[in-house]
Amino acid sequence: MTTLALPRCQLLIGGRWLDPEERTRFVTVNPATEQPIAEVSEARAADIERAVAAARKALQTGAWSGCNGAQRGRILHRMAAIMSEELESIALLECVDAGKPVLAARRQDVAAAIDCLEYYAGWADKIDGIVVPARNDALTYVRREPVGIVAAIVPWNFPLMNAVWKVAPALACGCTVVLKPAELTPLSALKLGDIALRAGLPPGALNVVPGYGSVAGQALIEHPGVDKIAFTGSPAVGRLIMRTAASGPRRVGLELGGKSPNVVFEDADLDAAARASASGIFFNAGQVCSAGSRIFVHRARYDEFVDRLVRRASRIRLGDPCAPDTTLGPLISRDQQQRVLDYIERGRQEGATLAHGGGTGCDTGYFVEPTVFADVDNDMTIARQEIFGPVAAVIPFEEEAEAVALANDSSYSLAAAVWTADVSRAHRVAHALRAGTVWINTYGHTDTRLPWGGCGGDSGIGRDLGSAAIENYTELKTVWLHLAARRAATTDA
Ligand code: NAP
Ligand code: MG
Repeated sequence: MTTLALPRCQLLIGGRWLDPEERTRFVTVNPATEQPIAEVSEARAADIERAVAAARKALQTGAWSGCNGAQRGRILHRMAAIMSEELESIALLECVDAGKPVLAARRQDVAAAIDCLEYYAGWADKIDGIVVPARNDALTYVRREPVGIVAAIVPWNFPLMNAVWKVAPALACGCTVVLKPAELTPLSALKLGDIALRAGLPPGALNVVPGYGSVAGQALIEHPGVDKIAFTGSPAVGRLIMRTAASGPRRVGLELGGKSPNVVFEDADLDAAARASASGIFFNAGQVCSAGSRIFVHRARYDEFVDRLVRRASRIRLGDPCAPDTTLGPLISRDQQQRVLDYIERGRQEGATLAHGGGTGCDTGYFVEPTVFADVDNDMTIARQEIFGPVAAVIPFEEEAEAVALANDSSYSLAAAVWTADVSRAHRVAHALRAGTVWINTYGHTDTRLPWGGCGGDSGIGRDLGSAAIENYTELKTVWLHLAARRAATTDA
């Protein structure tokens, strides 16, 4: 039997595909088949050094930051166009590397990445300064300049989309970037690097360095040449990054976890609420920072809601993510699968009722069935900790104030939802919930034009997307020009 050699991927540094200094490599695996799919160069400290130096060169020579906004916008538009032409193959890449159902990868991940590139392409020539008439004896104005070198560190759950959420606005602002994807899902970030080169991005403006978080990631966050760390990932690593950045101090943006409350009142459209709540927790196998993992339902409709949610869960098609009718793919890794199964066991032990699922549903691949727990108390482990899997905790409540208090009783603050037919209550509750985003009578939407992020604690700080991201990647510079007084006319002629 002949075994086919795995495709090999190199690092993108300074506009060239290079081997790592120590010739280190790792293998990336398809989580649905457990089979290796590519050998990827593993960046270590020496490679991070080269990548930061390349980013610095592109900044200092003005190769990128010196382009005017319209030129930067054109290149970002070209990146979006190439990505659109190759949408199918990129969706397939996310499907085999991250285990995403191909339909979702196409409609969600890649579509959102293209939209994000186009949106920030539009921003590139509209990053204005302002003239502030502070004094009569001066012309005073404020410029927006690129922050400098951005270290973008992203997780495995939306590998391409999360990378583009940082890379697109950073490039639009004239920053240069060193991108470290998660070691579990490096392929779409390398593809993004390839697209950038083909679109004409100058060498060094975007460098892509896959590697382990504790090695490549750590070297990157410790590098004194990095001006801003843009991170999406776990609260533990987020805290470590903030501590490390304090040595600069340097700017950080932290998009971390969630344990989002989804509050269903007695007057809600229960069918719509159950449908959206099911996708709110089962989409991407629950590996979503804003997964609606705590569903609070008014006692009067509680049993009916649980029945509907279980019916929705039972209709989900778990299996090969490359098959067009699959709606639930595997989790990302064996570790992650085991972690989720341990949480399910913990839920049982702490007295919640397992209303649906709880198993793996498949012998090969890192699958977990869509799982519904009823009779959950907000103090149970499955209601406190981020499971990052397809596990819903349904919790009863009786009063509006009680629902708000329970929803806000969490270390997370990323997103929340409220379902009601009462428009006053909808806004009242939306205002009272501590969250960066609140959905009313829907769940889970994000849009490039709208800011996205947490309100502190385990959800992190700062906002991606929208105009907020332009502030993330620009520094304000005040310019003060003295206006000399008119010399008095001489009189001794
Ligand atoms: P993670 O371990 O924090 O990893 C995220 C990224 O950080 C990966 O690229 C990882 O590299 C890297 N990393 C790990 N240790 C590092 C270190 N010491 N220094 C620098 N970088 C380091 O998180 P995860 O478990 O992969 O991702 C899941 C988490 O991300 C969840 O908590 C989820 O809620 C959160 N998340 C949040 C959002 C949001 O928008 N707020 C979006 C998606 C995910 P390796 O993986 O290669 O080791
Ligand atoms: Mg993989």
